[in-house]
Amino acid sequence: MKTPFVTKPQLEEIIRTYPTPFHLYDERGIRENARAVNAAFAWNGGFKEYFAVKATPTPAILKLLREEGCGADCSSLTELMLAEKCGFRGEEIMFSSNNTLAEEYRLADRLGAFINLDDLTHVDFLEQSIGHIPETVFCRYNPGGVFTLGESKEGFQVMDTPGDAKYGMTRPQIAQAFRELRAKGAKSFGLHCFLASNTISNEYYPELAAILFRLAVELKEETGCHIGYINLSGGIGVPYRPEEPANNIAVIGAGVQKKFQEILVPAGMGDVKLCGELGRFMLAPYGCLVTKVLHFKHIYKEYAGVDACAADLMRPAVYGAYHHITVSGKEDAPCGHKYDVTGSLCENCDKFAVDRMLPALERGDLLVIHDTGAHGHSMGYNYNGKLRSAELLLREDGSVDLIRRAETPEDYFATVVW
Ligand SMILES: *Cc1c(COP(=O)(O)O)cnc(C)c1O
Repeated sequence: MKTPFVTKPQLEEIIRTYPTPFHLYDERGIRENARAVNAAFAWNGGFKEYFAVKATPTPAILKLLREEGCGADCSSLTELMLAEKCGFRGEEIMFSSNNTLAEEYRLADRLGAFINLDDLTHVDFLEQSIGHIPETVFCRYNPGGVFTLGESKEGFQVMDTPGDAKYGMTRPQIAQAFRELRAKGAKSFGLHCFLASNTISNEYYPELAAILFRLAVELKEETGCHIGYINLSGGIGVPYRPEEPANNIAVIGAGVQKKFQEILVPAGMGDVKLCGELGRFMLAPYGCLVTKVLHFKHIYKEYAGVDACAADLMRPAVYGAYHHITVSGKEDAPCGHKYDVTGSLCENCDKFAVDRMLPALERGDLLVIHDTGAHGHSMGYNYNGKLRSAELLLREDGSVDLIRRAETPEDYFATVVW
């Protein structure tokens, strides 16, 4: 069972000022979760979570996370600009990009960000772009092949294919990159790797950590380079479906600690600082898309049309992703009716749910589409002339702030050269 963080009376109050659809974020949930993440890794003195900005590039959210001690993980010019505008400075910024532009490296360097190289050829390209090699450089590793974790007791499996992913360097390349970087003046090194997305398993981070810790020990022996940082990147998932088990960040932190004690400490590398670049885990459950039921249609199936569409949340349309839906005020009503919940795009994939059992719907019902806090509003687009919705923040004291207004037709026309 999934319970919304906002009640029907609260929503009715909110829509008097802010019409649907909108994304609503929960300050309390965001802060409590960020504190739990930091507590889980507090055993590592240097730990820092760099929030993956692409998941929710909204200044009010980024500032909240900064207050909780998080940094910003950026991968484009405008994300770097956004991080700077939100007050992130120097090593509070991680720049993990791929297929990078020279101007992006220049801004990352000017901000004093940690730079994470995605490819061996970028050793020279970085030097040409910024005129020198920074003292600390990260390199992204790709072990290739297939990555699997055995089934958890709940029956969930993790499987991904790094061998098909465009990111990172091979094992020989990463040793080569370290040597070249050191010859050009780098003194301290970071290792980064992202193996699987949205993992529902407390084993993912510890497994990944073990791979990176062993690699770090080998690279130190092979190259003599000092490895100061290990970046476990993103990938810890959230249970989008009510029947999925939630990850336990305290268990995950303890699992990584065990690998740290087993692998790094005996190699004399107990001073390594850990980083994360979590996006989804930091935000997804603490945002929802609120939309109103507009129309019903009975043809070969039952359709409920709402005022949001895939332009507000594209994951169901593009990935067939499941997002749980509750009907505000009918959270405990029996789900005895089957609907396709649709937006208004001229694309048949514009459905938030297919064959979903819900309580009987009425016009004007407010639907809460869950877990849209990450990769929700941020993936919005303007197809069919649709305007992106507003973003609101539910404060800890129960008040609501507008943190991004809805787009207007003027925004839609702003880039046109008539
Ligand atoms: C997308 C991304 C993340 C965040 O991934 P989540 O699945 O949201 O945790 C972290 N690092 C990099 C480099 C990414 O591209």
